[in-house]
Amino acid sequence: MNIPDLSYTYSNLPLQFFSLQNPIPVKSPEMLLFNHELVEQLGIDDLQINDWLKICSGNQIIPNSKPLAQAYAGHQFGNFTMLGDGRAILLGEKRGKDGLLYDIQLKGSGRTPFSRGGDGRATVKAMLREYLISEAMHGLGIPTSRSLAVVKTGEQVYREKNYDGAILTRVAKSHLRVGTFEYAYQFTTLEDQKALTKYAIYRHFPELKDADNPALELLKAVQQLQIRLIVAWMRVGFIHGVMNTDNMTISGQTIDYGPCAFMNAYDPQTVFSSIDSSGRYAFGNQPKIAQWNLSRLAIALVNQIDEDQDKAVQLAQDVINNFPQSYQSEYLGMMRDKLGWLGEEEGDQLLIDDLLHMMQRFQADYTNTFLGIASGEFQDEKLFESLEYQDWYMNWLKRASQNGRPLEEAITQMNQYNPQFIPRNDKVEAALDLAAEVNDFSLFKKLLDVLQDPYTPKIGYTAYQFPPQNRDEGYQTFC
Ligand code: AMP
Ligand code: MG
Ligand code: MG
Repeated sequence: MNIPDLSYTYSNLPLQFFSLQNPIPVKSPEMLLFNHELVEQLGIDDLQINDWLKICSGNQIIPNSKPLAQAYAGHQFGNFTMLGDGRAILLGEKRGKDGLLYDIQLKGSGRTPFSRGGDGRATVKAMLREYLISEAMHGLGIPTSRSLAVVKTGEQVYREKNYDGAILTRVAKSHLRVGTFEYAYQFTTLEDQKALTKYAIYRHFPELKDADNPALELLKAVQQLQIRLIVAWMRVGFIHGVMNTDNMTISGQTIDYGPCAFMNAYDPQTVFSSIDSSGRYAFGNQPKIAQWNLSRLAIALVNQIDEDQDKAVQLAQDVINNFPQSYQSEYLGMMRDKLGWLGEEEGDQLLIDDLLHMMQRFQADYTNTFLGIASGEFQDEKLFESLEYQDWYMNWLKRASQNGRPLEEAITQMNQYNPQFIPRNDKVEAALDLAAEVNDFSLFKKLLDVLQDPYTPKIGYTAYQFPPQNRDEGYQTFC
């Protein structure tokens, strides 16, 4: 049995970029979740679920395939480290119905030469979490890796105690990271570095194939995609939680759903990750961190940008220096969409800032504030009862109905950018606990269902729209 038409383009890179490694077989695999829609989009229709179980557990190697662990490095909380796939195996690449090539990767499939002290495995709960949140992000229209399957291994994984183990099958435009380029720069030859750049352009930016300065153009293109991605995160209150450079993709997709969470009350300082004690990856820091990460990419590419290193540094610096302005303009555009505004007016920034400050002072729910502005509902938010909000609302109304546009149209615009539903942390945890602990997927399936179509109001689902009473006070996430 076979996934038809798999390619292995990554394995054509110089040998330093990977280590051939088969997944390690598991004891008694059981399919917990399977993504029929995604398989269909990948154009794979002749495999039975039992075949998938064998492939997604790692128990059967696809004939003539080249499973491999990728080499990469990265800055973790600011410190440079050699990393690599310590618990993931790339099975191959499949061309989807959209014509793009997608990595099919197992995560939690056993030890590799990059495992260091780790066991190469993952827990059921963590893999269910990645499945749920990545599919929710996809539903929200945010670039992301996706989840094809979760297989329970029948083996125990020891963390603080024993947990059921699982393997996630992850699908992504590629798993090239900023950290892949950092690895190349630190540990390979200039020739190998250029091969990686060429490969990244082949996978993600074919329009740059004949560019005069491929490395510089790559840097610009990645920055543009990352700006769009971070702005999309800021639109829905997503906190990635571990924006290390090894978790920042070249494709502009979100990857690595370890400690991520969604913000309830608006506060740029919001952090949920248990290991982020300094708040490095707080909600409001995400754009700054993205710029910092991109400057690591710039450093890794400088070698290739110009033989004259001073000139190369200057060219790379110019790109990175453009981040704040480019981000701000993208962010403003996004906020205008959330507020139902067309065009650009001088007072926009001020009105947006006023709203955010009010939300912070009143600890207003980020998601529901925008829904409330549009619908006049959610009136239990204290913000809406305040005089300053009434003032602000009059200004909003004036701006939204500019040039005689009917308010209705503004609200239609808002509803396309403001989700009705986000993965509320308490709902996510309740669904995961029930599924992981007693194998009851009723809550999980219901939540997944809501999150796959988050912009459409649904009767009977208001419980999914509110943060818990304690507003996730003390809630912590783990890698
Ligand atoms: P992450 O924090 O998920 O981005 O992972 C950082 C690095 O740790 C990556 O190189 C992972 O492959 C590796 N890693 C995480 N968990 C394990 C594990 N259980 N066994 C081996 N390597 C791991
Ligand atoms: Mg990672
Ligand atoms: Mg992780």
